[in-house]
Amino acid sequence: MFSYFRVSVVTLPARSGYEEVPMNLFKNLSIGKKLLIIFLLISILPLFIITYGFYSLGKVKLTEQTIHVLEVQSKNVAASIDRFIDYKFEHLYRIANIPQLTRILKNVQEQPHITRQTISSLRAKLRMDPDFLSFSLMDAEGNVVLSTSNTPNIDFGSRPLFFEAMKGKKYVSAPSLDEGKPSIYFSIPIKYTNKLALDTDRGIAGVLVAQYDAEELWKLIETETGRVGAGNAVILSNSDGVRIAHSTKRDLIFKSWIPLKPEVEEQILQEKRYGSAIKKIASTDIPEVMDAVTMPLPPRYFQHRLVIGKGTYHSAISVMDNGWRIISTVPEATFLEPVHASMFYISIISGIIACVVIVASIVIGRLSTNRIHTFALISKEIARGNLAKRVPFVNGDEIGQLGKTFNIMTASIKRKIEQLRYLNDVAVEIHSHIEIEHLLQDLVDISRRVINAEMGVLTLLDENGKDIKYFKVSMPNPCRIKEQPTGKGLLGAVIKKGQTIRLDDVTKDRRSIKLPENHPPIRTLLGVPLVTNSSTVSGGLFLANKANNERFTVDDEEILLTITYQASVAIENARLYGQVQQLAVTDGLTGLLNHREFHKRLDETIEDSKRYHYTVALLVIDIDHFKKFNDTYGHQVGDQVLRTVADVIKSQIRTVDVCARYGGEEFAVILRVDAASYPLVLAERIRSTVYAYPIRHDGIRSQLSVSIGVACFPKDADNAEGLIKRADEALYVAKETGRNKVCCYKPAQSD
Ligand code: GH3
Ligand code: MG
Ligand code: MG
Repeated sequence: MFSYFRVSVVTLPARSGYEEVPMNLFKNLSIGKKLLIIFLLISILPLFIITYGFYSLGKVKLTEQTIHVLEVQSKNVAASIDRFIDYKFEHLYRIANIPQLTRILKNVQEQPHITRQTISSLRAKLRMDPDFLSFSLMDAEGNVVLSTSNTPNIDFGSRPLFFEAMKGKKYVSAPSLDEGKPSIYFSIPIKYTNKLALDTDRGIAGVLVAQYDAEELWKLIETETGRVGAGNAVILSNSDGVRIAHSTKRDLIFKSWIPLKPEVEEQILQEKRYGSAIKKIASTDIPEVMDAVTMPLPPRYFQHRLVIGKGTYHSAISVMDNGWRIISTVPEATFLEPVHASMFYISIISGIIACVVIVASIVIGRLSTNRIHTFALISKEIARGNLAKRVPFVNGDEIGQLGKTFNIMTASIKRKIEQLRYLNDVAVEIHSHIEIEHLLQDLVDISRRVINAEMGVLTLLDENGKDIKYFKVSMPNPCRIKEQPTGKGLLGAVIKKGQTIRLDDVTKDRRSIKLPENHPPIRTLLGVPLVTNSSTVSGGLFLANKANNERFTVDDEEILLTITYQASVAIENARLYGQVQQLAVTDGLTGLLNHREFHKRLDETIEDSKRYHYTVALLVIDIDHFKKFNDTYGHQVGDQVLRTVADVIKSQIRTVDVCARYGGEEFAVILRVDAASYPLVLAERIRSTVYAYPIRHDGIRSQLSVSIGVACFPKDADNAEGLIKRADEALYVAKETGRNKVCCYKPAQSD
């Protein structure tokens, strides 16, 4: 029944390695959180991968497309500028064909009227094309000999437009500010038409300069922009790295991209190449931009570059052999705008999906782990000792089945603990008794209470294991079963054969026998044998009719067996104690009560008789001439005679009468007197039986007689001592008057 579990404590080796810590963290998370993390990983990770792939692919495609568009744009701008310049030179060459120009150059001083005429003719042409601001004619020395401008105070002779034209080339200057007017200068050489009049190696008489409004070039550039997208710009730069046109920011015109070398800066200022407006020079330190604007490039050269770190794309194209170049730029943010826009929507969709997944996983987690969570809480409470707690869900699924099993298990543990507690109480109670009568009654009472039966019976056999010595009944409403059990039938099966019986219906068992008349009916029965230390069956413990019409269970059987096991030791102890008690009050030779016990019993009986008003008679019996008997046959034979006389006396008295060995060969009998004649009749019967008893030794028959004195309480004495005295006195009379006789105390005798 009791099982002890050996608990072995195993010390686990400390785990090494920090890498396991995050894993343990995950392991310790609740199932709901684990599910949430897994759901998020499964659903959101692919979403991120797809989004990132889409972004990368879109970026590559758009970059390719943008590079192409930039290239087309640069080439378009280059073609427009070419056409613009060609058209202006065409115009200038037509003017140069005016014959008066060479004549003026030949002799300016002599023909002032021709000069005036020519000026008015040129002014007429200016009116036809208002973008031409002025025409100037310079001689071979660089002096202005004719000008449509009213304030011709610009020193053209110091500028490249003069030198280059004098070399026979047509020249277009970069835009500059002259007297606040943005201008571009076109210059062409004027050659002599008459070969004979050559005064230079090249036949160049002077230079025709046309001042053109730079606005037209700037507007041309501005109209070319905006095709790629917002933030796009087209910048025209010269070989010094100075911006000479800008499609979106005019304030950057005449400002350089790069830090200018001091000598270049000096030269620019001296030559007034950009007019007097260049004061502050903006620069860039982006190497790729610097490369694009300063590297010597072949005409019509095109290359594009991504300027790293600024997120801007640049394409550079060289337009003319004077080093002009077009830089088209577009910020990455502009051309990637569609991708970014898509990314925005994808992010929103991803966010929504993530939210849906989180909510779904929380809901799924809750639904699937709610009961497990409850389970965990309840099991914790049960572990704390609250065994009345039950798992509330017992439906058919796995968790429900687990709950059902768990509840059964908890109930079983609770029952076992209660049983252990009961058994402990039983053990304490049983071992607190030393007297067998009380012990047996308690045993049957406790067993009935622990197992909750309506009726309990305990039978214990005598030392020989033959007859039923003790029979104890336990019932809530006292009902005396007068008849002792016979030890047959079901009772016999247990106490004689040592069988355990557990019957749900006693009437169906063939061993059951008819119950006595007044016996309450028995439906269910549980009976276990009582086994003493010597392994012999010494009795049985029976419980009948389990309460609430239930049946006795295997558990009940186990408990009852445990109780009887414990009880057998206690019963054995009680028996031994009883034997010791018996020895203390018994005379060793005759088995009768001893002298001390005689006095005790006499006192008790007299006290009892006082309360219940009955007569007590005392018989004092003395063997006649016993000394002589002893002397004749020896003490051993004398002892045997004493035992014989004791047996004779015992055989004549009732079980309620008390018989003791009062002295050496004197006996005393205490009687409860129902009829007044009874003491004398009994005394006479004892006397005659002893006298008639055949005592033989070594083939010789001896005659034995006793004298008996009788006195009664309260008639002859008023206490125990007086009663003994009166009986003694009566005995004395018997001895004196011939022995072998019975004498009653007569008050007259003593008087
Ligand atoms: P009567 O009583 O008839 O006057 O004569 P009696 O010989 O019996 O005299 P008394 O009662 O004085 O003698 C008692 C004798 O009993 C003395 C003793 O030898 C004997 N006796 C006493 N106790 C024992 C005993 O335990 N064993 C034996 N064998 N003899 C005993
Ligand atoms: Mg005597
Ligand atoms: Mg005697």
